[in-house]
Amino acid sequence: MSSTHDRLPELIRSARSVVALTGAGISVPSGIPDFRSPGTGLWANVDPMEVAHISVWRRDPATFWGFYGQRFAILDGKQPNGAHRALAELERRGALEAVITQNIDGLHAAAGSTDPIEVHGSVATASCMSCGVSFPLGETRERMDADPEGIPRCDCGHPLKPDVVLFGELLPETEIQRGYELAARADLLLCVGSSLEVWPVAELPQVTLDAGGAVAIVTMGDTPYDHRAAVKLSGDVVAELEAVVAAL
Ligand code: ZN
Repeated sequence: MSSTHDRLPELIRSARSVVALTGAGISVPSGIPDFRSPGTGLWANVDPMEVAHISVWRRDPATFWGFYGQRFAILDGKQPNGAHRALAELERRGALEAVITQNIDGLHAAAGSTDPIEVHGSVATASCMSCGVSFPLGETRERMDADPEGIPRCDCGHPLKPDVVLFGELLPETEIQRGYELAARADLLLCVGSSLEVWPVAELPQVTLDAGGAVAIVTMGDTPYDHRAAVKLSGDVVAELEAVVAAL
């Protein structure tokens, strides 16, 4: 094992607080394409920033849910991979305080992470914006299938909205606040599978660095923080994180 690969387990061992920050790259090995990448999967001919927009949900819920039904289908039956499980294992061993994720797929919780902070929400539930009732994913899909227009509806008749942050929507304040607090007190922010370019996760490494903590990056491809990271690993996220767990 190279010295670069010894460095991350060392940093984790010596840190009092390690916080993980994850993006789409950690779920790619589970078969979930990064839908922000152009030309991938079902969205080759659709711009998700136009269709998965709050204004489309308001104005044309049938089109919105036509697109979102495809997202649900992509996530159907997907399982956490070794990288999700490695983070859950670090938490079980007391070596990881929390997971902050951009992902909406729920795979951190499925892998055993406790209360992951989902800054972009989750597909696990959908809610009525009129009366506030929330429905689990299975029931949302049943309601979608039962509706002649393919729109999952609340008992009150209003279209449901998935509890994910759509384009054009504000991010959930509580989760963002928790993310900033964790990043500020982390001795080590372990960034996995994120290009660290989308707010708010683009700012969290800076928060950790400003507070005197270190940043480690396990991501294929470049990030704006590579030159300030204590460690940058560019291999497969599953292999890299499983090696870290094995070395601890
Ligand atoms: Zn309702």
